[in-house]
Amino acid sequence: MSEESYLFYQSRNPRPFLDRGEGIYLFDESGKRYIDGSSGAMVSNIGHSNPRVLEKIKAQMDRATFGYRLHFRTHPSEDLAAKTVAMTPDGLDRVFFVSGGSEAVESAVKLARQYALTQGQSDRYKVISRFPSYHGCTFGALDLTGYDPLREPFAPMLEGMPKIAAPATYLDRDNLSEEARGLKYAELLRDKILAEGPDSVLAFLMEPVGGASTGALVAPDSYYGRIREICDEFGVLLIYDEVMTGAGRTGKFLAAEHWGITPDIVVLSKGFGAGYVPLGAVVAGKRLVEPILDAGGFAHGFTYAGNPLACAAGLAVLEELEDQNLIANAATMGVVLMDELRALMDRYPFIGDVRGKGLLTAFELVSDRDTMEPLEPRLNAYDRLVELAYERGLIIYSRRTRGGTAGDHFLIAPPLIITEAQIAELMSILRDSLDAFAA
Ligand code: PMP
Repeated sequence: MSEESYLFYQSRNPRPFLDRGEGIYLFDESGKRYIDGSSGAMVSNIGHSNPRVLEKIKAQMDRATFGYRLHFRTHPSEDLAAKTVAMTPDGLDRVFFVSGGSEAVESAVKLARQYALTQGQSDRYKVISRFPSYHGCTFGALDLTGYDPLREPFAPMLEGMPKIAAPATYLDRDNLSEEARGLKYAELLRDKILAEGPDSVLAFLMEPVGGASTGALVAPDSYYGRIREICDEFGVLLIYDEVMTGAGRTGKFLAAEHWGITPDIVVLSKGFGAGYVPLGAVVAGKRLVEPILDAGGFAHGFTYAGNPLACAAGLAVLEELEDQNLIANAATMGVVLMDELRALMDRYPFIGDVRGKGLLTAFELVSDRDTMEPLEPRLNAYDRLVELAYERGLIIYSRRTRGGTAGDHFLIAPPLIITEAQIAELMSILRDSLDAFAA
C-alpha cells in the first residue's frame, strides 16, 4: 500500500481495500472475490448487503437516526426487544441494549451484581469463568477471559475472578464415557464454588460453545444440565455468553436451546447486528430486572445503546433470520460442512480434530493425532494457512487453541445463507490451501 495509513488496530493493516459485499462474498477494490468463510469474526450471519436490512436502515435514516433513550421511547427499540424475547426461551423476557460484545458481558455482570444487592446479598461479587475462554477486551470482560496473550500485557487485572477449566474432552486420554466426562468437568464448578465460599459467588459465565479461544469446542451433553443444577444449588446466576453462538449461528436461536437450558442472563452481539450496525443485548428474566427497577433503576448505560438506527437494523436481521428459515439452514448446512471437514482428516494427517455445532465449526492442527501435541510454532500454521486461503479467495479465522498458549485452530463459520453448492466451493479452496500448506 503506497499511501500512509493514519489508523491502527492490533497491528498495521496490510490488507487490500474492501469494495463491496454480496451474500457470502466480499470483493476488494481490484475486483478479487473472497468467500467470507468466517462471516468476518462470526458476525455476518445473514450475509452481506441483504436488501431488506438495507431498506429498513434507509427508511429509519429518513425518519430519525438518534433519539436519546432518556428523552424518547422508540418503536425500533421496543419492537426489537419484543422480537428478541419472542425468539428466546420462556423466562428471558427483559432486554437491555448495548453496542458490542464486551459491553454486553460487562452489563450482564453489573446486572447480576445489582440484582444481588436487591436481595441483600452484597457479599456476592465473584464471577467464575473458564479457561480457555474469550469474553471481550475491556478490563472487566478481559478479567473474565481465559486467554493469556491478551491478559499478560495488562496485568494486574481488576479484582481477580476465579476460573475453572473448560472441557477439553478431545485432549483427555482417560477411559471415561462422554457422559461421565461432562459430569467430571461440571464438578469443577461445584468444587470451585465450595472453595471460594458459596455466599461470595455471584455468577458463572460460560460460552456454550467455545469461540475464539477454543475453536468451536462443544462440551458433552451431560455438562450443560449439571452446570445449571450446580448454579441452582448455590443460588449462583448462570450467564451464557452467546455473543458468537447466538442469533442462529449454531442452528438454534440460542445455543442454550440445544440442551434445553434457560440461563439467568444471556448476552448477544455479533450476529445480532449481523455486521450492519454495532449492536448487542443483555437478555434476562423480569425476576432479575424488576427488583432493580423497583429499587431505583439499573445504574448503568451507554450513550449509543438502543439507538433507533441500530435497532431498526437489528429488527430487520431477526425478521430475515425467521422469514428465510436461516436458523434451520444453519443446522442443515452445518451437518454438510462438518461431514466435509471430517473427510479432510483422511487426507491430511496433521488435522487432529474437527468439531462444532451448526455453522460454528473448526479444525485443529496437531503434530501427532494420538497425543494431540500441537504443531511446532515455527511452522507458523496459524498465520500461514490463513494467508494461503486468503490468496485463493477464502477467508478463515485462526487463533491459538489452548488459551492462546499453544496449538492452531481454524474456525469455518460462513453466513447462515450458505448453500450446499457454495460449501463445495469453499471446501475446494480450503483443500487447495491445505495442499499448499502441506507441500
Ligand atoms: N464474547 C465472545 C464469546 C466473543 O466471541 C466476543 C468477540 N470475539 C466478545 C465477547 C467480545 O465482543 P466485542 O468484540 O464485540 O466486544
